[in-house]
Amino acid sequence: MKNYGWLLKDIKNLELIETPYPETKEDQILLEVLYTGICGSDLHAYLGEHPFVKPGIILGHEFVGKIIDKGKAVVSFEIGDFVVVEPSLTCGKCYNCIHGRYNICKELDVIGCTKTNGGFQKYISIPYYKAYKINDIPLKKAILAEPLAVAMHGVRRSSFKPGDEVLVIGSGPIGLLTTIILSLSNPKKIVLVDPLEKRLNLAKELCTEIIVIKPQNLNSGLFSQEGPDITFECVGIDETINMSIEFARKGSEIILLGVPKEISMAKFIYIQDRELNLKGSLMYTKDDYLIALDLLGKKNINYERLITHTYPFSKLPEAFESILKNKEEYFKVIIDIQKD
Ligand SMILES: [Zn+2]
Ligand SMILES: [Zn+2]
Repeated sequence: MKNYGWLLKDIKNLELIETPYPETKEDQILLEVLYTGICGSDLHAYLGEHPFVKPGIILGHEFVGKIIDKGKAVVSFEIGDFVVVEPSLTCGKCYNCIHGRYNICKELDVIGCTKTNGGFQKYISIPYYKAYKINDIPLKKAILAEPLAVAMHGVRRSSFKPGDEVLVIGSGPIGLLTTIILSLSNPKKIVLVDPLEKRLNLAKELCTEIIVIKPQNLNSGLFSQEGPDITFECVGIDETINMSIEFARKGSEIILLGVPKEISMAKFIYIQDRELNLKGSLMYTKDDYLIALDLLGKKNINYERLITHTYPFSKLPEAFESILKNKEEYFKVIIDIQKD
């Protein structure tokens, strides 16, 4: 059997290569990869702008597949099962792993990001405990489990409670999924800010009660107090990080979900002066993933509006370029891995 994958050879250079057909170790399942989502972090890595994901790897950490082989120790899955993958590989021994926060493991490796090749290849083997059965969820919809778990972790990291007024900065996939989770959680008000009209329109269509606004129109008069109770920053550039700091109500909380490209020039003076609680949020743990899957199973999320394009495996570089050229038109893009 042969295996092929798209190697990020260099910045803006993806090359189709033959990769080893994976063996299936005792605690592993072998997957025929079916669909893999293109994430914002894949695009950042492609452009050479991601602080931790560098060329020399097959990208793709949002993927679903079919089990075609399994190791002797695997009893919870059968060959033929469809699964979605939680791509974090952790040491299980460090302080945070032992305390259940393996998303910040000392040795964290993320499939398709750091060391292990990811889902932009035809076959992959993974530890069975990193897979979740999809059951009745449509395969394409299940791709959203990963970004939804990121958003879920951000909301669960926050002190959000029903009745809060919330500001979400950025209406890309993570910002919009965060907005969807919050809108299902009885907020008093959600204000979502993004410069792109189409993204705001999509958000408004999916969450009708929210206020959508362009950055230049954002103002503190939108909130009962001088600012939101909680701000979710889902972009990761200085401009938006500072927006989150400047608009935050005194004594309020900011959750940073966006991945900054470089050392930030954030206005820390206000964090001290206004007693702001600034919290980072990285990836997710099993609970976030299970809640995300449960939510997807309940049909609350109109995935057909979120997944705007599907490209065949052979056209992967074209997909990357098209997204970068048409940010207004492309929302979530997925690759049909078995289709050439
Ligand atoms: Zn992702
Ligand atoms: Zn660890």
